[in-house]
Amino acid sequence: MMSSSLIDRARSVMPGGVNSPVRSYRAVGGEPVFIKRANGSKIYDVEDREYIDYVCSWGPMILGHNNKKIAESVKKAVDYGLSFGAPTEKEVIMAELITSMVPGIDMIRMVNSGTEAVMSALRLARAFTEKSKIIKFDGCYHGHCDSMLVKAGSGALTLSHPDSLGVTGEFARNTLIADYNDIESVRRLFAENKGEIAAVILEPVAANMGVVPPRDNFLAGLRALCDENGALLIFDEVITGFRLCPGGAQEYFDVRADIVTFGKIIGGGMPVGAYGGRKEIMELVSPLGGVYQAGTLSGNPIAMAAGIAQLTELKENKDIYLRIDRMAESLEKGFKRMAKELELTLTVNRVGSLLCVFFTKEAVTDFKTAKSSNTKLYAKFFKHMLDNGIHMAPAQFEAMFVSDAHTEEDIEKTLEKAEKSLREMKNG
Ligand code: PMP
Repeated sequence: MMSSSLIDRARSVMPGGVNSPVRSYRAVGGEPVFIKRANGSKIYDVEDREYIDYVCSWGPMILGHNNKKIAESVKKAVDYGLSFGAPTEKEVIMAELITSMVPGIDMIRMVNSGTEAVMSALRLARAFTEKSKIIKFDGCYHGHCDSMLVKAGSGALTLSHPDSLGVTGEFARNTLIADYNDIESVRRLFAENKGEIAAVILEPVAANMGVVPPRDNFLAGLRALCDENGALLIFDEVITGFRLCPGGAQEYFDVRADIVTFGKIIGGGMPVGAYGGRKEIMELVSPLGGVYQAGTLSGNPIAMAAGIAQLTELKENKDIYLRIDRMAESLEKGFKRMAKELELTLTVNRVGSLLCVFFTKEAVTDFKTAKSSNTKLYAKFFKHMLDNGIHMAPAQFEAMFVSDAHTEEDIEKTLEKAEKSLREMKNG
């Protein structure tokens, strides 16, 4: 079976042939590669071609693909039954793991995706504060719930539909947009909407407009503004959670949020999300409180088995973070060296094991500067790299993810292929 014949079949029965838009390669052109299997740092397409993978399922595979401990844990769980719709010990273990690793989280509720986690966190913040407006940042992506599809990043950005059809004005009206890394834009919104802001939500490291680190004091400034105005601070850690360090962005930047959302890594590759916070807030969630939120498959035993195995590994082996950060740093240095040697206008941003190459000479500090990247050049780079066996995100405004399965040889080979690709691009 070839990718080219699969995409024809797929397109006749699925919108764009995919179940999530970025996979269609719309942003970079060409036909998507269909994947058959993955192991460690590598993925293999249906024609058995091997690629070093920097998508890592968009973040969950922090230990690499097909990690033995996770796979074993899942296989064992399968033998016990797939779903019960009743409480299990695994859910308790999962909640204990997350609350023990992440600061300020007394209680957690499991859901099935990052989108669900954000949607529920926003409802909870509105209930807790009894206010309705939410401040979000231009270019930050928080999943596809209606109120967050306003100036969203990621696929919504790449496909140039920043505001989705089907989202009514009523939903958009309560979402106020500030500029990432611009504390004054947030201060202004608070002043103009006195007493009406329930929460500020953001990706503490923006990773859906490429990777953009928070400026010094930006997160602390948001914390202070929320406190002054009786609003909650929501960290959407669907990407940064358990990636920057075991405690996520709160620990990494030493700033506390009121509600934190998770996804990706906590599921070890299974469909999982979660939201948590301190007790007085979480006690508002049903059945204790009046914020209704439920899920037939929430806390699913197979998903919990995968997540528990992954989080346990991250908790017990903290040097994983040193290793993945070092690998990402080697990539960063290599790209920067190439840019200099080949006289290319590249900007490389990195936070921990999250990395992004922008084709611009500007420092990328917010969505405006991210958009200055030449996306046509990124598309060319992506194609050259793919042809050379390196799988990067098929869109500019995404992160490169490094996993613990990536080896020094992988990094060397990646840089070698990147140099080859960039030279070829330069020579037309
Ligand atoms: N928040 C952030 C920061 C994300 O990156 C994503 C997905 N990439 C989401 C929320 C939505 O998660 P999901 O795709 O699991 O719904």
